[in-house]
Amino acid sequence: MATERFDAIIVGGGPAGSAAAYTMAKAGLNVVLIERGEFPGAKNIFGGVLYRKQLEDIIPEFWKEAPLERRVVEQRMWLMGKDSVVTMGHRNEAFKEPANAWTGLRVKFDQWFASKAEQAGSLNIYETVVTDLLREGDRVVGVRTDREEGDLYANVVVVADGVNSLLGKQLGVHHEWQPDQVSLAVKEVIAMPKEKIMDRFNLEGDEGVTTEFIGQLGGMAGLGFMYTNQETISFGVGVMVSDLKRTKIRPYDLIENVKQHPMIRKMLQGGESKEYAAHLIPEGGFHAIPPLSGNGWVICGDAAQLVNFVHREGTNLAMTSGKYAADAIIEAHAKGDFSKDGLAGYDRRVRESFIHKDLKKYQGLHGLLNDIDPKLFDRLPAALNDAAYQMLLIDGLSKAEKQKAAIRGLREAAGGTANLVKLGIKGWRAING
Ligand SMILES: Cc1cc2nc3c(=O)[nH]c(=O)nc-3n(C[C@H](O)[C@H](O)[C@H](O)COP(=O)(O)OP(=O)(O)OC[C@H]3O[C@@H](n4cnc5c(N)ncnc54)[C@H](O)[C@@H]3O)c2cc1C
Repeated sequence: MATERFDAIIVGGGPAGSAAAYTMAKAGLNVVLIERGEFPGAKNIFGGVLYRKQLEDIIPEFWKEAPLERRVVEQRMWLMGKDSVVTMGHRNEAFKEPANAWTGLRVKFDQWFASKAEQAGSLNIYETVVTDLLREGDRVVGVRTDREEGDLYANVVVVADGVNSLLGKQLGVHHEWQPDQVSLAVKEVIAMPKEKIMDRFNLEGDEGVTTEFIGQLGGMAGLGFMYTNQETISFGVGVMVSDLKRTKIRPYDLIENVKQHPMIRKMLQGGESKEYAAHLIPEGGFHAIPPLSGNGWVICGDAAQLVNFVHREGTNLAMTSGKYAADAIIEAHAKGDFSKDGLAGYDRRVRESFIHKDLKKYQGLHGLLNDIDPKLFDRLPAALNDAAYQMLLIDGLSKAEKQKAAIRGLREAAGGTANLVKLGIKGWRAING
């Protein structure tokens, strides 16, 4: 690889990197995107819900050509008891047009998105690892890659290298993960005939359903997911790394245990496991967001911890941050100023957007989840399941007696009335900024 100079170098071909590369290339900037995988998406996994709004702001009507699986028309939330479930959810025809979200598979989607950047003029280089940032004084001026003569120079480096961000560490804005700041998600892709999926999940055409569940995860604060694709189901569980350390439960055993729950077993029955992968998710939230730019660099997506774990949103924050970074670089290019001040438009855009506002709203949740007695993550859903069972069981007891028993069950699960009230107040505060 010869030594070359670009307007911008983008490190990482995930949603953040491709959004940045596409936006800048379309504006006529000379950009290069470097991805370590054999192709974009080769190393990436997600649950996978892709939202319309943020990608539409980058590529209008993208759904007419992007490889998407199913249009999400229903979102289900399950509170799991041992052999039972309390279900909630929302299904709405209005989610069809305009679509709110689709299910997707990264191996297809990331390739398509990166190819859009390439068509717009980005030079995409794959199977190449960026090993170092190149600096002159306090300014980042390029990157070193693992290719022979692989130094590349640019006015700005866009750091979009994901959750482990080697480059973020070099910049001093990303630190080694603490186990309570990151979750590990394990995911399986389970093949199933299309007709079976449509019957089982009550679907027509390209309709899709997402199911998320909490409870019965071995006393861990975690979330399970089951998303319908065309001919597969994406199934997985994400739990905090600190909880895996504490309980010594292996991720593989966790996912296998969850699959034995009667509700889940029946949904997955007859399916054939095709892929199995594990990946980290940044869960540090608002307080973990680092400085987003400096002299000659910006940082986006998971590398900048921009994940809203409450709403399992990550790809949309990644794409929007990539686009905002690109918009700011285009401005900096016009002014010829790539200093921290010249790139400050990026920080401002993120600060004024839903990204900052949503993460701020949930800023207390991370602390709350760490404070809660882990046993409650199983006990409270179990108590709610028991209450639902008792209320619906016709056994001659009066409804008033049943109601009292249900409240008593919840109180006992929480360790007393005071704890239950405290938990309610703390929970309310944690989700309201
Ligand atoms: C199991 C799971 C389920 C999820 N579910 C959802 C969901 O349903 N909806 C949602 O919106 N989000 C979801 N997320 C989060 C979402 O996947 C991420 O937030 C999003 O992918 C972040 O995009 P990114 O571009 O910042 O990083 P990534 O997608 O991680 O991309 C980073 C890229 O950089 C490359 N790279 C890394 N280091 C180097 C290097 N040194 N040199 C060259 N290339 C490098 C990597 O190979 C990778 O392609 C989920 C995540 C997981 C793990």
